[in-house]
Amino acid sequence: MAPAVVDNLLDHLLPTQSLHAAVIGAGSAGLVAARELRREGHSVVVYERGNQVGGIWAYAPETESDPMGCDPARTVVHSSLYSSLRTNLPRELMGFSDYPFVAGPARSGDPRRFPGHSEVLAYLKGFAREFEIEEMVRFDTEVVKVSLLDGNGNGNGNGNGNGNGLIQWRVKSRKKTDGICSGDEDDEVFDAVVVCTGHHTEPQIAEIPGIDAWPGKQIHSHNYRTPEPFKDQVVVLIGNGQSSADISREIAPVAKEVHVSIRAPAEGIVLGQRPGFGNTWLHPMIECAREDGAIVFADGTCAYADVILHCTGYKYYIPFLETNGIVSVDDNRVGPLYKHIFPPLLAPWLSFVGLPQKVIPFPLFELQSNWIAGVLSGRFTLPSKKEMMEEVENFYAELEAAGVPKRLTHTMTKTQFEYYDWLAEQCGIPGLEEWKKQLFFAGIESLVARPDTYRDE
Ligand code: FAD
Repeated sequence: MAPAVVDNLLDHLLPTQSLHAAVIGAGSAGLVAARELRREGHSVVVYERGNQVGGIWAYAPETESDPMGCDPARTVVHSSLYSSLRTNLPRELMGFSDYPFVAGPARSGDPRRFPGHSEVLAYLKGFAREFEIEEMVRFDTEVVKVSLLDGNGNGNGNGNGNGNGLIQWRVKSRKKTDGICSGDEDDEVFDAVVVCTGHHTEPQIAEIPGIDAWPGKQIHSHNYRTPEPFKDQVVVLIGNGQSSADISREIAPVAKEVHVSIRAPAEGIVLGQRPGFGNTWLHPMIECAREDGAIVFADGTCAYADVILHCTGYKYYIPFLETNGIVSVDDNRVGPLYKHIFPPLLAPWLSFVGLPQKVIPFPLFELQSNWIAGVLSGRFTLPSKKEMMEEVENFYAELEAAGVPKRLTHTMTKTQFEYYDWLAEQCGIPGLEEWKKQLFFAGIESLVARPDTYRDE
């Protein structure tokens, strides 16, 4: 090969700049982000407030003091998994590109295609071991504040006056010993911060007219673990997602009655008594709750309930991030973000992995992380801040024109593969294999058509 060609190739392949990067969170997103950043030559510190890797997949039998998960003074339990939870994606779709999620001796002993949560945790622990990620992790260390270093963040990306266009961050963290916060805070300066804190911990609650006078109990699915507490109870579940489907099925054998209130019935779903379940009914939205214990649904039917179980999803929540208002969470939109990752005015020094919803998470996190690592090293270039901002504004305008509510900004499903392909192209690597895309859509079809049995087909 001619020397000039080799030079060009090396220019393309070799990273040019090694940075000191903080990754916040050691769930699946943080683990793969840490690996990609280190592979690219950056020095990496991973902050994890829990005592193990795995994030949401580290099942916690304990629940929070406030069953609704609203009290800001509560001790937060990160994981939202229930004891019986099995994946809703087949394991073939949950592996990272070079570390397939296969059953085997190093796992939990659950070879099923849609395994239980322990198998996923064992997989993530295996991944962390294989790529020696734990050595980068500071466990039991909660990030309490991420802020721009003095003089940074004036919006032009050249804030610290060091002449190289870098912004720097002060990351303040607090260490726990034996589960108790020591109060000792640590401060460290980083060139880049990658936020990987997940978005399935802060409950979203349904608003119900009259609820303050209603005498029953309320709980969010974040604090649901097992069906026993619902024995002989009349339970109203709100939501028609996967958690509501799983939990309503699981409590039906022990509860007296189960009423599921759903916003928009999927095609083929008929309201009324659920076939095959003598004590379960599907209803439209809740109209109001009454002082006499009744929950009234939009079609006039009602149930005298003991408990309302909110299976209403979660909110993005990034309380530690201080960017002088450059990035905010507004009606569940984290923004403005270029491609759900970089805030244009702080790019590439601040980024997010894992915001998109209704996707194939692990492979997507890997692609996002690969791109971030390469952008930080200078191997990939971003458009100008102005161009990124225009792109974000156009994207928001398109959502609005299509009638997509702001709160669904990061929800993908159908558009996700365009996004994968775009990221893969930026990284110069192959996108998600075609068979995986097909398997994803086939899986959704089976889930919708046969929600009670699709995992064991
Ligand atoms: P998390 O796994 O939540 O990890 C975030 C980490 O950040 C945690 O370890 C947390 O302790 C840490 N952290 C948070 N704040 C701080 C802080 N301030 N300082 C330090 N550390 C912090 N996905 C699938 O692929 N397949 C499935 O079948 C599937 N089923 C699901 C079922 C349920 C009920 C839920 C809720 C989610 C499911 N998911 C599933 C989605 C799942 O959330 C993602 O797969 C993925 O695990 C999210 O990873 P993450 O790293 O983004 O977040």
